[in-house]
Order: sequence, then structure tokens, then C-alpha cells
Amino acid sequence: MAMLIDGKKISAEIKEELKSEVTALKEQGTEVTLAVIQIGNDPASTVYVGNKKKACEFIGIRSLAYELPEDTSEEKLLALVDELNAREDVNGILVQLPLPEGMDEDLILRRISPMKDVDGFHPMNVGLLNIGQEGFVSCTPAGVIELLKRSGIEIEGKECVVLGRSNIVGKPMAALLLRENGTVTICHSRTKDVKSITKRADILVAAVGKRGFVTADYIKEGAVVIDVGIHRNEMNKLCGDVVFEEAEKKASAITPVPGGVGPMTIAMLMSNCVKAAKMQKGI
Ligand code: NAP
Repeated sequence: MAMLIDGKKISAEIKEELKSEVTALKEQGTEVTLAVIQIGNDPASTVYVGNKKKACEFIGIRSLAYELPEDTSEEKLLALVDELNAREDVNGILVQLPLPEGMDEDLILRRISPMKDVDGFHPMNVGLLNIGQEGFVSCTPAGVIELLKRSGIEIEGKECVVLGRSNIVGKPMAALLLRENGTVTICHSRTKDVKSITKRADILVAAVGKRGFVTADYIKEGAVVIDVGIHRNEMNKLCGDVVFEEAEKKASAITPVPGGVGPMTIAMLMSNCVKAAKMQKGI
């Protein structure tokens, strides 16, 4: 039976560490501040934004909420981003995705100062990751690396396979595993014979966005299986890209859904906010 990688516990540890760090920063006169912009009232986005606010409250990060109507113009949103970029008391800026139809997501995300880009989506930060320099890293893949490290799973020299090549998960995930000296292969929708590749993996990260895609026959005996996918099954219960019941019999370690990668994303966002404040203050 596989070891369960407990994202709830590990994310709670990280949040406790950040809480102490934020308290110490406050004592030195620095109040870490995150600005969150939400356009419209997509119910899923409202839940995500609410969870981010709660995490900020717990850690002691000041959060500024900008809730703008669905029909907000691109110009108005860009003007708000410019204003927040210029404010010295704002360390991190997050624009909740998806944006309403018709808005140019790339344009908006590129307008956020790379120094305040706590989501790690700005091309400058993407570039820094790929040339192995310090910057902000997309929170979900950064969370996967923390899960592995804090569970005592070595990445160096391991055969790592990432299922998925999205800009927010698959690609940065592969870059991070490479930075940790893994040997990395990326599979995507045009990859031939995916199973023959995933079966080589010592560490398999599933970010394919398809419920139950990874069955036992995709997994090498003793592999570490990380499930990034989030779906709901017929009973409306959360589940992942991996068929957990099958995979846990073959894997040496595995993340559950829920309670695996999910809680790490917000913890890493909080970590990026603290990093932003320290970078801006030269601490
Ligand atoms: P995405 O943008 O839809 O990307 C899915 C990737 O999977 C694409 O690169 C696609 O390839 C690839 N793919 C699709 N079918 C495939 C197949 N049959 N074989 C191999 N590769 C295939 O999704 P995403 O944003 O990366 O998210 C992935 C999953 O993670 C989703 O379930 C999402 O909800 C979840 N997620 C979770 C968190 C979290 O906090 N836990 C955060 C973000 C996302 P192509 O590029 O060729 O189309």
C-alpha cells in the first residue's frame, strides 16, 4: 500500500511557518499586502477568492479585495492594475481567472509588475524559471515540489513524467523537476503511446484534466504518483486524473484528491506574497 502524501498537513505546516515570518516582518515595520481583483461573480471564482482571503487572514497578510462588475472595461481594469503596481504598500497583485469573455487575458497578466506577480504567470517570471533564475513560480507546480521535498522524496536523477503541458501546470512543473535535476519527459494530447512513457516514470505527475485518465496500467510498480486534476464524479465528490484505488496498490507514494495538491496551491500563493514583500524591501 502506498504512502499517502498529505497535502492538508504539509500546507498547514507551510502556513504556520509563513505566519511566524509575517509576524516578524510586521515587527520590523513591513505589512505584507495582497490585492485580489475579481471581475464578475463566477461562483467558482468567488469560492477561490474567498479561500485566498481566509488564508491571508490566518497568516496575517493584509488582503485588499477589488470586486468589479462583469461589464468592467479592459481600460478600467488596466488602470486599476497600474494603480496597484505603483502603490508601495501593495506587494502582490492577483487577477482571478477566468476573465469575462472578450477581455484579453494575456494583456492583463502582462500588465502586472513582474515584481508583484504572485501567480507567476508573467512572461518575465516564466522566462526566469526556464533560465534557472529566481522569480515567482506558478503556485500549483511549486506546491508539488514542496510536497515531494517535505515527504522525503528525492527528485535528483529520477525519471519524471509530466502528463500535460499547460502554461500554468504542465510546463512549469517540468521546468521545476528539471531544476531539481530530474530527467523529465512531457506528454500531451499528441503524444504517441502515452502508457509506454508513463510506465517509465519514477515520479508521475498527472495534470491532464481528464477524470480517471491514469489507471494502474500507466504506472510503474513503486512509482510516486502526484495527481493535480480536480473533477467531480457522479456522486458530486471530488476526484482527480488518477484512479486512486488502483494506483495506490502500485505506487510507493500517492497524493489523494481532495487533500493532496489542492491545498498546496494557496499555501504557495501565500509564500509568494511573503517573498514579494521581502524582495521589494530588499530583505
Ligand atoms: P489544461 O489546460 O486543460 O491542460 C491539459 C493538458 O493535458 C494539455 O496540455 C493537453 O495536451 C493534455 N492532454 C489532454 N488530453 C491528453 C491525452 N489524452 N494524453 C496526454 N495529454 C493530454 O489543464 P490544466 O490547467 O493544466 O489543469 C490540469 C488539471 O489540473 C485540471 O483537472 C485542473 O482542474 C487541475 N488543476 C488543479 C489545480 C490545483 O490547485 N490542484 C490547479 C490548476 C489546475 P495539449 O496541450 O496537446 O492539448
